[in-house]
Amino acid sequence: MRKEFLVFGSPAIGNEEIDEVLDTIRSGWLGTGPKTMRFEQEFAEYLNVKHCTAVSSCTAALHLAMLAAGIRPGDEVIVPAMTFCSTANAVIHAGAKPVFADIELPAMTIDPSDAERKITPRTRAILPVHFHGRPADMAALRSLAVKHTLVLIDDAAHAIETRYRGKTMGNLGDITCFSFYVTKNMTTVEGGMVTTGRGEWADRIKILALHGMSKDAWARFSDKGYKHYQVVAAGFKYNMTDLQASFGLHQLHRLEQNLARREAIWKTYTEAFKGLPLLLPPDPAPDTRHARHLYAVRVTPESPLDRDDLMDGLYKRNIGTGVHYTALHLHQYYRESFGYNKGDFPNAEAVGATTLSLPLSAKLTDGDVQDVIDAVKACLAH
Ligand SMILES: *Cc1c(COP(=O)(O)O)cnc(C)c1O
Repeated sequence: MRKEFLVFGSPAIGNEEIDEVLDTIRSGWLGTGPKTMRFEQEFAEYLNVKHCTAVSSCTAALHLAMLAAGIRPGDEVIVPAMTFCSTANAVIHAGAKPVFADIELPAMTIDPSDAERKITPRTRAILPVHFHGRPADMAALRSLAVKHTLVLIDDAAHAIETRYRGKTMGNLGDITCFSFYVTKNMTTVEGGMVTTGRGEWADRIKILALHGMSKDAWARFSDKGYKHYQVVAAGFKYNMTDLQASFGLHQLHRLEQNLARREAIWKTYTEAFKGLPLLLPPDPAPDTRHARHLYAVRVTPESPLDRDDLMDGLYKRNIGTGVHYTALHLHQYYRESFGYNKGDFPNAEAVGATTLSLPLSAKLTDGDVQDVIDAVKACLAH
């Protein structure tokens, strides 16, 4: 058994990030400034998108996306019942109501037919999540959006490197939100990005991300001399700092290399787990690229252990795991606030009860990967 605990989702950080962070500290310019601007530009180039705003988290990005798209109190936004809570909370922060739709299996992304059933005269947007790195069925969702005049806001927290029919993220929905939380495919410790092709939305996002100050206020972070600003909206404090961008610049440069490493780990897992009483992640859909954010297996009725016992067994063998996620409508807050019940979204519930994610960080050594495989096999050998 391995001696040290294998932390789930520990990121791969290189010397370049460390040197850049030190350089930023020594420069005296720690807040939003030239490195944040450069990070936005390079991120926009990587994805081939027009407008990028770096922010403090994906949750902030989602909130700003709602506001830029004009989501208001009384509106409804359709959200998959299987996602992280912040996807739905951003809708609530905008004063609107998240309306859950079930997911499709085995893909685990929002089911477009269930989404269509949930559309009412108050529906303004659909918020697909490219779940675990697998793109949602954007062709079907785009036709729904066109038919019912809805905005598509992508939660791409798992999906920076995801591609769909030749398109990069940021070129699928109308606004796209990314996360650079520590466990994500690239990290700025905490951080996020909002991208959109629409100039007026991008302007609104920039203003609201920084207290509602007029756009030129960003220019006061420069050596060009003091500029007066006007507050034009009651905005938020959602800006990214140069300290965070120092991580982001180098994490971005290593994004493809790290994806290749996770693809290799994924393949090793899938070969090693064949024949075990586990449901393995489905192969990527044709003409898509999967960002390999999470390798989630599901226990089956044939598994000798239920999900929690398997997690516990792995923990005792020094392997950290995660659950992505418990179905959202089963959490106390959404049940009490919106009247959801067990049985409302059978596919999301089935995944929520049986799923566990194994370590997949690009930081894992071949030895770590083998330890995970040995531990899973030992737990299931009953
Ligand atoms: C991590 C995550 C978020 C929130 O990202 P933060 O940057 O931590 O705010 C939102 N949606 C999904 C699907 C996530 O996994």
